[in-house]
Amino acid sequence: MRHVAVIGSGPAGYYSAEALQKLFGDEVRVDVIDRMPVPYGLIRFGVAPDHQSIKAVSRRYEKVALSDNVRFCGNVLVGRDVSVPELLSLYDAVILATGAPNDRPIGIPGDDLPGVIGSAAFVGWYNGHPEFADLDPPLDVAAAAVIGNGNVALDVARILSKTPHEFVGSDIVAHAFGALANSAIRTIHLLGRRGPHQIAMTPKELGELGHLEDAVPRTDLADFPPEMDDALLEPGQRKSVTHLREFSGTTPDKGKTILFDFFAKPVRIEGDGRVERLIVERTALDDKGAAVGTGETYEVPCGMIVSCIGYKTPPIEGVPYEEDRGRFANSEGVIGNGLYAVGWARRGPSGTIGTNRPDGYEVAEKIAADLSGGGGRKQGRTGLDRLLESRGVDLVTFRDWQKIEAAEAARAREGAPREKFIAIEEMLGARGR
Ligand code: NAP
Repeated sequence: MRHVAVIGSGPAGYYSAEALQKLFGDEVRVDVIDRMPVPYGLIRFGVAPDHQSIKAVSRRYEKVALSDNVRFCGNVLVGRDVSVPELLSLYDAVILATGAPNDRPIGIPGDDLPGVIGSAAFVGWYNGHPEFADLDPPLDVAAAAVIGNGNVALDVARILSKTPHEFVGSDIVAHAFGALANSAIRTIHLLGRRGPHQIAMTPKELGELGHLEDAVPRTDLADFPPEMDDALLEPGQRKSVTHLREFSGTTPDKGKTILFDFFAKPVRIEGDGRVERLIVERTALDDKGAAVGTGETYEVPCGMIVSCIGYKTPPIEGVPYEEDRGRFANSEGVIGNGLYAVGWARRGPSGTIGTNRPDGYEVAEKIAADLSGGGGRKQGRTGLDRLLESRGVDLVTFRDWQKIEAAEAARAREGAPREKFIAIEEMLGARGR
């Protein structure tokens, strides 16, 4: 028998468990450990609440979770309740699938003013992450600036633009639904430090902006290279740029406007006790495609700034870490003897949910090769249970999660978003022990 611990129950964690199961069949026992009492990480707390079709991938992970040789161990924080060296002594292999839930700081003067928010916090707030329930973003202002030209920036701009009606069928949490319904924001500036050809947005997500009930996206054709240059782009990017070009011809005849500002590098945030404006420097591209400041600055009046410039994996004591890349130091997923990394903890925060699947299969193969001489002398889950019990840890099982999920479903009201539990105590209470 091989005993494997997977830390993190998001996509990378469950794809790894699935791969181990496929490779080893009944000869493996996998414990998927998560600090939250609820599974699926990014799917529950990161993917936008109005993207239910993407969230539906959790049904695939559920199949893995319900199999006999995989178990969910929720409400267990590695580094507090159990250490990585302890897990290595209990399991033949330990896989870090902890994702990248921390914000990369924008690091410009004024970024500590109230009203400057990182995307992890903002996305966590509208998705019911217990750590960000009290964020209370200042939505009483006329304009917001969203920094970054990736899909997270698009998610944030779209969520700020939607009407309550457009959230029906979503699982946005009640506090965010109510606050957004009363939002005074009418202008959303989407700032990219490079140009339309350098965006990191995907066409489907960009296309959605063109169909909002009460918001219009706007671009300025002066920011674009000659149209014939679009032919040089790969097809997906070309489609995205086509959407951006279409947005130059829109009429701002709805309640809200999403203004794309390209070649705009944030240099300073100003305000008297709270954000009032963002100072931006115009850029140009150098011959390597990097944004270089031109020295010309202008100001973007805004009362809230959401910085969507990428994420970091939280370090774990004793595990080698690459500060500049915000991920664990690893060589093709191997950190050290018996210790592996997958997903964003391995590669950094890039790619779609499906990009994590090959990582899981690759790491399973590596574990098979590393354990070819045997394995199976470790205690695995029996040892973990003993240790957690001695420390008074309240372990949450998958069956518990099913009760929590059923209790959440029972709270659903017709014509309103589904209501998730936010506080950890509420989740623990809903499992009814
Ligand atoms: P991302 O795709 O890496 O985009 C980050 C953006 O921030 C880039 O436009 C980058 O510009 C910009 N940026 C970085 N540092 C900056 C700075 N100091 N000042 C100004 N701008 C800065 O990251 P993400 O949007 O966080 O998304 C993470 C991953 O999740 C991506 O792979 C994304 O596609 C995926 N995702 C997918 C979906 C979906 O499929 N629906 C939804 C959300 C997220 P440069 O290019 O100039 O560096």
